[in-house]
Amino acid sequence: MKNFLTRRKLLKVGLAGFAGIAASFAGILPAAARETIGYTISIKNAHTGEVFKGVYRVGGYYVPRAFRQINHIMRDHYNGDAHPIDPRLVDVLAKLQKRCDCSEPLTVLSGYRSPATNAMLRRSSGNVAQNSYHMKGQAADIRVPGSPASTVRQVALTLAAGGVGYYPRREFIHVDTGDVRHWTA
Ligand SMILES: [Zn+2]
Repeated sequence: MKNFLTRRKLLKVGLAGFAGIAASFAGILPAAARETIGYTISIKNAHTGEVFKGVYRVGGYYVPRAFRQINHIMRDHYNGDAHPIDPRLVDVLAKLQKRCDCSEPLTVLSGYRSPATNAMLRRSSGNVAQNSYHMKGQAADIRVPGSPASTVRQVALTLAAGGVGYYPRREFIHVDTGDVRHWTA
């Protein structure tokens, strides 16, 4: 009986080993390999200096652990409220970073905005929309270190991924994942 159990155990280990080998072979198939492409981004909160740098997406899978940090960094810096950030927005930011050939973190001036903060900003500025995409975690105001805002705007327009606002006086651009449209403030 003892021997039988031992053999069963060995058999189990053997099957587990085989599964491991099969999995590693699957990893070198071209179709599977395409699904393991890692997408990276580095962003910095302009107000707190917090940085996220790393892989946020593998193939079509958005990495939850990365998004926990991204959601925190892109929180409402006025009251600390956080909100899930639209993964497609992070795709836009990552493409901007890549196409601008920027190795430093993108500077996020404003990511998520709570309704209270949006209302407060609306009272002091004519440039804040009532139903801002910032309130849905779908917008970011950014600067790309090393690239003038006018250049970043041009690159963002070529992506045609949503809204692009250009704020030349404060040298930043707004990007969102709403309808494709653009404006200059
Ligand atoms: Zn904005």
